[in-house]
Amino acid sequence: MMTFEPIGRVKNELTEKRFIKNAESIVSEILINDHFLDGLYKIEEQKYIDVLFEFHQSDGYQLITPVFNGETRGVFASRSPNRPNGIGVTTVRLIERKGNKLFVSGLDALNDSPVYDLKPSDFSFYRNLQSRDDLMLSRPRINIEKHISRGESRALLQQAGQLHGHYCPGLAMGVLATMNAMDLLRQASDGMEELLAFVETNNCFSDGVQYISGCTFGNNALIFQDYGKNAVSIVSRDGRGYRARAKNDIRQVIGSLFPDFNPLFEKVVVEKNHEGSLKQSFKEVSKDVSFGMLEIPFDEMFDLQEVKLKIPDYAPIEESSICDECGEVFMSSRGICLKGRRICHACNDIHHPFLDGYGIHCV
Ligand SMILES: [Zn+2]
Ligand SMILES: [Zn+2]
Repeated sequence: MMTFEPIGRVKNELTEKRFIKNAESIVSEILINDHFLDGLYKIEEQKYIDVLFEFHQSDGYQLITPVFNGETRGVFASRSPNRPNGIGVTTVRLIERKGNKLFVSGLDALNDSPVYDLKPSDFSFYRNLQSRDDLMLSRPRINIEKHISRGESRALLQQAGQLHGHYCPGLAMGVLATMNAMDLLRQASDGMEELLAFVETNNCFSDGVQYISGCTFGNNALIFQDYGKNAVSIVSRDGRGYRARAKNDIRQVIGSLFPDFNPLFEKVVVEKNHEGSLKQSFKEVSKDVSFGMLEIPFDEMFDLQEVKLKIPDYAPIEESSICDECGEVFMSSRGICLKGRRICHACNDIHHPFLDGYGIHCV
């Protein structure tokens, strides 16, 4: 048995035991006891330090424990605060030292946690990069999952913009609706139809849904319901999930906070006036509004409800046929037999439903 004497204590805003979101944005003070003060000599030269502390409010532990994204893991394969010895080790960024106080960000310790040791972090760039690379290969969406679990909506909206091509309120709505529903459901997508998104519109909103949920047009985990509503249900394969729907007056809420938006929307989008400077100002305002929406309380813009939905079976693996007309390979179910010939839909005169900005329709 070893006994330890704390070298200091943590002071921060985290007074309650809860799942710590956004640790990177929380600044903590580590108050070092006087007789250890000389031990801080030259610590300012470090950008990152490892902090060893005690999870002093945790009681008991489970060897198999839930983790941030809802899956379960062995306690030693997790960062759960409920551990056999209650020891926390976290790499933090050192912002500054003022006498016996160290200001750090990224510490997932509660207020008053005893601190037992500090060390410069062995933050070898190459090693870090290497392990990140390995992790990305086994879980390509790990960074998105982390942003969701930490409530980092700004980073998520920025990334979703890479898919969508511009920033707009619809995209922001899709991002916010999906991340909040996913945060409640606590299930990540592995792109294998275990998590499904029922999206009720095909506009900007649905790109936010696809990027954040990982349920996409391509992996069959996106179910499109052509209802024309800014709403999405994030559901696990047992049918349990959450539906987030933009409130009826969301445009008024946005309009009252960003008065320039609605008049420009009328001119550029509704009246299709694409004059250069007008379009440019609209894009600017759209971007400001979309990021500004992240500051509006979620409940003012959305209704979020638990749902139980009927889930389709996993997408079938289709046999291939060769079209007797065009000679191209197609999924057998997407064609017909006509007078003994196999014909793909593209070669068939009958018009088949397709999806565009007008919804699902036949021409
Ligand atoms: Zn858009
Ligand atoms: Zn054909």
